[in-house]
Amino acid sequence: MTTSFGRFFLPGPTEVHPEVLAALARPMIAHRGRAMTELLGGMEAPLQSLFRTQGRPVIGTCSATAFMEMAIRSGVRSRVLSLVAGAFGKRFAAIAQACGRDVVTLEVAPGQTVEPDMLRDALERSDVDAVTLVHSETSTGALAPLEQLAEVVHEFDDVMLLVDAVTSMAGLPVETDEWKLDFVLTGSQKALALPPGLALAAHSERMLERAKTVPERGGYLDLVAYADAAENHQPTNTPAISLLYALDTQLERITAEGGIEARWNRHKAMLDTVGKWVDDRGESLGLSYLPEKDRRSWTVSCLRLGGGQNGREIQHTLADQDWMIASGYGQLKKTTIRIGHMGDHSVAELQELLKVLEETIA
Ligand SMILES: *Cc1c(COP(=O)(O)O)cnc(C)c1O
Repeated sequence: MTTSFGRFFLPGPTEVHPEVLAALARPMIAHRGRAMTELLGGMEAPLQSLFRTQGRPVIGTCSATAFMEMAIRSGVRSRVLSLVAGAFGKRFAAIAQACGRDVVTLEVAPGQTVEPDMLRDALERSDVDAVTLVHSETSTGALAPLEQLAEVVHEFDDVMLLVDAVTSMAGLPVETDEWKLDFVLTGSQKALALPPGLALAAHSERMLERAKTVPERGGYLDLVAYADAAENHQPTNTPAISLLYALDTQLERITAEGGIEARWNRHKAMLDTVGKWVDDRGESLGLSYLPEKDRRSWTVSCLRLGGGQNGREIQHTLADQDWMIASGYGQLKKTTIRIGHMGDHSVAELQELLKVLEETIA
């Protein structure tokens, strides 16, 4: 059991602040009543600030993966190019395949990112109507150059850009409108630091127009139905009302912190804290960053371990002292560790963690 706030550095689910947890205890309201319309309506402007969009974000009672499926079902006509830089990129491609779409993948080694020239080359060679990509690849800690990749996608006609921003949204800049992202999705339990169970997304006008032309979008995850409901500040079905209270409270807390940019800056400071620690102490501890310096996510650091170290064992030793980090993901399980410095954590808490981690590894 974690004894106090500030010791749980998993890259999802992240630690939930007591004020947010308290919001879950509020009594129920009618899901078609005026209180619900007010709750959803009141969250519209802060969600637009979060997503940096003039559009109306949609909220679903489901984990983020469901909205990956929404992106495919509503955004891909027949053939999609999936950029794969780790486990979540692979998942996006697998969902597209499961939904019966033709999938072309462009894959890079763990820790690397697809670069604009590679993307342009792939788009010139294959005729696709959409691109999926993961902005912050949580399994490797690598951050894709989203703004530049989006520019490349827009050199091609009528190609939808579908973005998994699950560990970037609320932790680092994601400019939905300015970068012309067609569909941007996230989940509640990452940099938003809410309990798991909500997915959120913003979409472009042309994404909605595309969706209307795609047959068999399914029922429960149909973007058109979500957009219709959002226009009237209604839920599609009975939502997880308690989680909506928590979201409302967290959006207020983000405003109180100074807005989304202040939140981004705090995450950048946390990345820089880990970066400096690895610069200073990495060599003697046998630690190094998996991604290159300008391709590191602000929300999760994936560190390679020296010989003889085991990510699983380090995670367990820390857990025995009430500190939580993650081991590597998939094939990187033993050879890396991951620190999720996202959500409501501070630099001071992270420094405490690094002290304990250093003692454990030394
Ligand atoms: C966690 C995560 C997901 C999946 O989220 P769920 O809420 O578990 O469905 C997808 N993409 C990325 C990048 C993630 O970090």
